[in-house]
Amino acid sequence: MATDNNRKQALATQIAQALHYVDQETGAVVPPIQPTATYARDADYAIRKPYWYRRDGNQTTAHAEAMIAMLEDATETLLFASGMSACSAVIEQLAPGAHVVIPEVMYHGVLHQMQISAEKQRIEITSYQAGDLTQLEAATRPGKTKLVWVETPNNPNWEVTDIAAAAKIAHAAGAKLFADCTGTPPTMTRALALGADYSFHSATKYLNGHSDITAGALSCKETGPEWEEIALIRNLHGTVLHSQDAWLLIRGMRTLFLRVERASKNAMAVARHFADHPHIEAVHYPGLPSHPGHEIARVQTDGQFGGMLSLIVKGDEQNAIDTARYCQVFYPATSLGGVESLIEHRKTVSGEGFPVHPSLLRLSIGIEDPDDLIYDLEQALTQAFSGS
Ligand SMILES: *Cc1c(COP(=O)(O)O)cnc(C)c1O
Repeated sequence: MATDNNRKQALATQIAQALHYVDQETGAVVPPIQPTATYARDADYAIRKPYWYRRDGNQTTAHAEAMIAMLEDATETLLFASGMSACSAVIEQLAPGAHVVIPEVMYHGVLHQMQISAEKQRIEITSYQAGDLTQLEAATRPGKTKLVWVETPNNPNWEVTDIAAAAKIAHAAGAKLFADCTGTPPTMTRALALGADYSFHSATKYLNGHSDITAGALSCKETGPEWEEIALIRNLHGTVLHSQDAWLLIRGMRTLFLRVERASKNAMAVARHFADHPHIEAVHYPGLPSHPGHEIARVQTDGQFGGMLSLIVKGDEQNAIDTARYCQVFYPATSLGGVESLIEHRKTVSGEGFPVHPSLLRLSIGIEDPDDLIYDLEQALTQAFSGS
């Protein structure tokens, strides 16, 4: 085969090799953990850039950021100690009185943070129904709106929002588009390429994939004063991702492509099995052709549909809670994106007042054998309905 000097390696190759990391001194193929809290000045008493103190970051975290920037095709990526601290930095960066457009139902922590900021009159929020671009456009105020927030697929009903169309609407109003695509990691969805200004992933979820850290990955299409301010907030708050957690994230990301592909296949098998089931009212999964966002999801998630789905259980709320209780393979736990499957009764977790169907079970499908997952849900449903 002829040598092609312009040949680009696939992302899957680069990520599996952590960008072909090799320690220049030892040849080690695994990057080190840099735990230092402070950095000595050089012989001229000058700071050895770019680090001065722990809050500036460290080389382990920077390596993980380079991997995510590659995945996202981003100009820059910043890693935070949690997804929430990344989202909070974006909200805090907004000028006082900024108008923000958000989905009515979204990740509960972000919604809570938005509501607190709005109650203190730091920002003003208008909501739209997730996935509804007409409502989204109507919610914007040209010249006033600074940020349009999209979560797609959207917790916990998995509505799909067309990122490219939302970007056009946001930009026409003079606002930036923030895309939280935690549910479909950048092996599937590359929000910046679709027109978003910020792409966000709770790296606690698929990017890490092993439920052993919290982390938030914020990537931008273009740097500028707003981005610099977000980085400064991270520095002043000390919310940069620590090196130990960055190391675990690098290790987790090496298998990202494999894990996500398997989780998506498993989720499709589970969704299909329960799509027509005597104890199930509805299955919310963008991979099913009946899902209203199916066609957009097909394009936006690169033919895969991710590992997240929700089941609306028939009967009453207690039937749904019992189904989660009786599972033996699924863990009755919150979070998502790990190798192990999780099930949660979302109303119990989100608390009273959060608009969610009382019989909704959110499933994060892992990489186990799909037959075991289906069998587990079947036996749990049978038990949950045995008395009714
Ligand atoms: C988990 C999650 C967050 C928050 O991230 P943490 O790492 O838990 O702080 C934000 N958005 C979505 C969609 C999430 O699933």
